[in-house]
Amino acid sequence: MNMRRRDFLIAGAAGVTLAGFSGCASTPSAPKARVAVVGGGYGGATAAKYIRMLDPSIEVVLIEPNEAFVSCPISNMVLGGFKTMADITTPYTALERTHGVKIVRDTATAVDVEKKQVRLSRGDPVSFDRVILSPGIDFMWEALPAMGGADAQNAVLHAWKAGPQTAQLRRQLEAMPDGGVYVLSMPEAPYRCPPGPYERVCQVAAYFKASKPRSKVLLLDANQDVTSKGPLFKKAWAELYKDIIEYRPNSKAVDVDVRGSVVKLEFGDVKGNVLNVLPPMKAGNVAAPFITVNRRWCEVDWLTYESKAAKNVHILGDSLQIAPAMPKSATMANGHGKVCAAAVVALINNQAPNPSPTLINTCYSMVSGTQSVHVASVHKYDEKDRTMKAVPGAGGVSAAMNEAEGAYTMNWAANIWADTLG
Ligand SMILES: Cc1cc2nc3c(=O)[nH]c(=O)nc-3n(C[C@H](O)[C@H](O)[C@H](O)COP(=O)(O)OP(=O)(O)OC[C@H]3O[C@@H](n4cnc5c(N)ncnc54)[C@H](O)[C@@H]3O)c2cc1C
Repeated sequence: MNMRRRDFLIAGAAGVTLAGFSGCASTPSAPKARVAVVGGGYGGATAAKYIRMLDPSIEVVLIEPNEAFVSCPISNMVLGGFKTMADITTPYTALERTHGVKIVRDTATAVDVEKKQVRLSRGDPVSFDRVILSPGIDFMWEALPAMGGADAQNAVLHAWKAGPQTAQLRRQLEAMPDGGVYVLSMPEAPYRCPPGPYERVCQVAAYFKASKPRSKVLLLDANQDVTSKGPLFKKAWAELYKDIIEYRPNSKAVDVDVRGSVVKLEFGDVKGNVLNVLPPMKAGNVAAPFITVNRRWCEVDWLTYESKAAKNVHILGDSLQIAPAMPKSATMANGHGKVCAAAVVALINNQAPNPSPTLINTCYSMVSGTQSVHVASVHKYDEKDRTMKAVPGAGGVSAAMNEAEGAYTMNWAANIWADTLG
């Protein structure tokens, strides 16, 4: 029995799902190569699916601890009461059954570059020819000393990874008395989803407007001004939530008094009934050995997404040091996943990767239950500077918030979920 097959059988005992080798997806008994993918979010799930679509003779093993995919995009609408957790949850069934991706329900603890193995928290290691890491973000808790422990983190939520905290924050908002104050503290850029915090305050304010009209929303922004779609958000706040949302720029949190329900700023303290604190962010922990910038982010070759720190290790999504004007978004991570999948398939087949990849980005933000605004951009590989650059004149922002854009937002979400997981 060769090493690869033996490892896979061991992993099978630890929870690999073997289901789904019918239909169009099939894996020959001796796969050409094995790609391990860590993280079944927007980047990782897309890469796993597209590698199998482009070359079914490559075995793909996706390592992901969660039973189902829960989307950050649209999760702010759960806080607003317009969507449920079920609305933003998609099973991994199609990846397994339609595309033949093997799923290991476990957490990767380390990547052994020399041995070409991913170590797992419960199961035996998964060996690979190439590994793709798309673990999203983790938090720099050291920036908020009192938030270091589990008790503090269970009381003051971030809800910046969609899942149990999303539902828990909604319950905190429901339990808050009318007349209370919800405080959202956001870090300096770069962070996951530039417009996300501004959308979140709209959603919470929409809930308060309908159900707790004496309540207030306070946004403490560590940045000097709104970092994305500024004029559109400010208009929405003025027109829809005039006496509800207060925006305070230059308000960087330095700690939290959890018991006192206070966000401590560089200058002064702010008390609230529900605190929602987003710490500064960095690459997902499992990617830490491949961080090359500011102890936070990972650099890659934009043609292949291969790490600048290690060969045969590819990194996608929010863990990356972004190229100029490139947001940390689901649309981007999904695009990274496709370009990386094509490059990995090419490399395994001894072919050259596409020399001029292009990515598109659209970020929608729901400013109420029905109205939305967007920002769009196109990013093309620049051969001279070896980075992705925004294409001048391509993209732009909405003329105004409206319900048509609200419908486009829901269509965008349905499409990207189908493209990533369907
Ligand atoms: C409130 C909110 C709203 C947003 N709205 C939008 C939007 O409207 N449009 C948009 O484009 N983007 C939006 N985003 C941003 C988007 O969610 C992220 O940019 C995107 O999820 C990044 O994809 P990723 O693959 O890097 O990470 P993720 O999608 O977070 O996937 C990471 C996956 O890795 C898994 N993982 C982590 N560590 C390990 C490990 N050690 N072992 C195994 N698995 C691991 C996690 O369980 C997770 O499934 C929003 C984000 C938030 C928080």
